[in-house]
Amino acid sequence: MKASYDALIVGAGIVGAAVAYRLAERGLSVAVLEAEAVPAAQATAKSAAGVRVQFSEPVNVRLSWSSIQEYRDFEELFGVSSGYRPIGYLFLVPRELERAYEDALALQRSLGVPVERLELVEARAKVDFDPAGLAFATWGPADGVIDPHLVAHAYLKAARERGAELLTETPLVSAERQQGGWRVRTPRGDYAAGVVVNAAGAWAGEVARRAGFELPVVPVRRMVFMTGAMPEAQGLPLTVDVATGFYLRGEHERLLFGRSNPDEPPGFREGMDWSWLEPTLEAGLGRFPWLERAGLDQRASWWGYYAITPDHNAILGRMPGVEGWYNAAGFSGHGVQHAAATGRAIAEEIADGRAHSIDIEPLRYERFLEGRALREQRIV
Ligand SMILES: Cc1cc2nc3c(=O)[nH]c(=O)nc-3n(C[C@H](O)[C@H](O)[C@H](O)COP(=O)(O)OP(=O)(O)OC[C@H]3O[C@@H](n4cnc5c(N)ncnc54)[C@H](O)[C@@H]3O)c2cc1C
Repeated sequence: MKASYDALIVGAGIVGAAVAYRLAERGLSVAVLEAEAVPAAQATAKSAAGVRVQFSEPVNVRLSWSSIQEYRDFEELFGVSSGYRPIGYLFLVPRELERAYEDALALQRSLGVPVERLELVEARAKVDFDPAGLAFATWGPADGVIDPHLVAHAYLKAARERGAELLTETPLVSAERQQGGWRVRTPRGDYAAGVVVNAAGAWAGEVARRAGFELPVVPVRRMVFMTGAMPEAQGLPLTVDVATGFYLRGEHERLLFGRSNPDEPPGFREGMDWSWLEPTLEAGLGRFPWLERAGLDQRASWWGYYAITPDHNAILGRMPGVEGWYNAAGFSGHGVQHAAATGRAIAEEIADGRAHSIDIEPLRYERFLEGRALREQRIV
């Protein structure tokens, strides 16, 4: 046995990093196993970096708001800015969803998060769009972007300052229960731990399988397209055309845009699927005719894996029937905005016996056994 820890965290993305920091902060001995040569090189480095409170399920609103506040105050806490820029998220609501979005606004307000209902004329002052078929827009003034890669590294640095170890090029190959905890096998030797946290992102299903049980998390490829410089892009908020799922935002002088392909099959399919560009642009042009002037920068566009669960929401907390195993995975397209709060909740679950800063019940694995899949309506 190479070493023994209170907790082994599998995956050094933004989620594993946040969990590692929160556990180390509590004085637990922690190691983070990372398959790659460097941390945070997978989904964390490939996201669109958006953070928003605009969800329809209370647990998701709370995870986001708690995380956004941590990212906002990051420099005070960690001595480095998270790159948080509250550029805002604008959802363009089609008439047929008017009621659902009114209800979500009421829920978000009842939870005390900053959201506004904008008339279309007000929304058009922020982004130029064709208002056909739309009822109104919702606006999150504290929503925006962060630098997820930087945040993950900051958590890891803070964790290591508190004694945590980062073991790169050390994938979990298998794991088995042994007295008092787990024995985890890696190509670099075996490690013992009281508990294991599965924060392996799109690989979380595979990691669970290697430990001898099933976790419903699968990889699904997603793409982000980037234009060359265009004056219209400057300062544009993250705008979602709800009717088509097309989204865009300004990235300094460029425009970033995308749309999830509902027919993309699960699996580790690599590379850009350029055939998805046309359906994406078609959807976008209908709402934002000025996109006609956009020139794509192929080399600046990228792809990565969403970690998808049956209801497109994370699986958090203790794994029922698998002693000493904790899930922090399956965040679909919203793990960046939930990572900070997840770090705290999982550390509480391990150290205090139960997550208490946020009620994670709706996101526990048991929901799939009990027919309580989450009906989150703001999956982008
Ligand atoms: C194109 C795209 C756009 C996105 N946009 C947004 C957005 O705007 N906002 C948002 O909140 N989220 C967004 N997301 C989702 C977000 O990126 C993820 O939810 C988040 O990064 C998940 O972090 P993670 O730490 O769980 O996973 P990852 O960052 O993928 O980290 C998992 C780590 O586990 C490691 N690993 C895998 N197998 C093993 C093993 N056997 N042993 C050890 N280590 C292992 C991997 O190498 C990896 O480093 C987007 C994702 C993509 C792909």
